[in-house]
Amino acid sequence: MEVHKIVIPTPYAVGDVNAFLVKGDTLTLFDAGPKTEEAYEAIKWGLRGAGYDMKDVEQVVLTHHHPDHAGWVDAFVGADILGHRYVDYWMRKTPEFFAYYDRFFTKILLEQGVPEKYIPRILKVKGEVELFGTIPLTKFLQEGDEVPGHPGLKVYETPGHAQSHLIFVDEATRECIGGDLLLERTSSNPLVEPPVEMSMERPKSLLQYNASLKRLRELGVTKMYTGHGKEVTNVASLIDDRFEKQKHRAMKLRDMIEQPTTNFEATTQLFERIYQQQLGLTLSETLGQLDYLVDEGLAEMEMRDGVYFYKKA
Ligand SMILES: [Zn+2]
Repeated sequence: MEVHKIVIPTPYAVGDVNAFLVKGDTLTLFDAGPKTEEAYEAIKWGLRGAGYDMKDVEQVVLTHHHPDHAGWVDAFVGADILGHRYVDYWMRKTPEFFAYYDRFFTKILLEQGVPEKYIPRILKVKGEVELFGTIPLTKFLQEGDEVPGHPGLKVYETPGHAQSHLIFVDEATRECIGGDLLLERTSSNPLVEPPVEMSMERPKSLLQYNASLKRLRELGVTKMYTGHGKEVTNVASLIDDRFEKQKHRAMKLRDMIEQPTTNFEATTQLFERIYQQQLGLTLSETLGQLDYLVDEGLAEMEMRDGVYFYKKA
């Protein structure tokens, strides 16, 4: 694959985000940064560095819908915009979708023992909607598809970090455009998000994420172009390392739940200093560990008066 990396600044704690320009039969940009002025300039100059203008890009393919990746689709008017069908909800941002979103999260948060007074604050975040793009997708991509204009570049659905997450693997070279599935330096947060089918059923993000990592491990990828930081070449060993650390974190939490404990209670203990500022993120992180413990038979879960309690098993 002929890949040109473009590093884009973001206003988020994660730091810079990467986009990748790939020249095949079609000129394709994978991911498009957050919708800020600084990011726009970085994309423009990145394309120039590869010998192209904004208008030369024929299609934008999104690894997932998060705002640090899906903002500047708006700069590529006339290009095809491709991604998982879930991305489309976030592009269109209909009142129906946001009403559903609020209903979904209110139910989940109450079940997780979050006091009602915190809920409006969590709902307000919605991933900084103004930094998202607003162009509906022109084509949906799904498992098994080939990226148009790139023969042999296969689509794999890899949910967990985002319900819309896709990676793209070149069948010949085993190189991969990997989004945030596996990052060089940080583990990806298994964010709680509404499910693709818009039911009230909560996806168990960390379990999905682990399954996606296991899948990636079996794909024999030689080089991953990642959403943040450097390319990753030691895919299998890095995945093993992440599983090891994750298990360690979960076992630490297990020792804290000798008595029946809600996710909210566990989160306030685990993240004493930051849970107030980052309640949504920290609740997602803890819930992931709790799902993991229950799945492994290391904890039990019981609902009382509409609230889930977790206890060491
Ligand atoms: Zn990201």
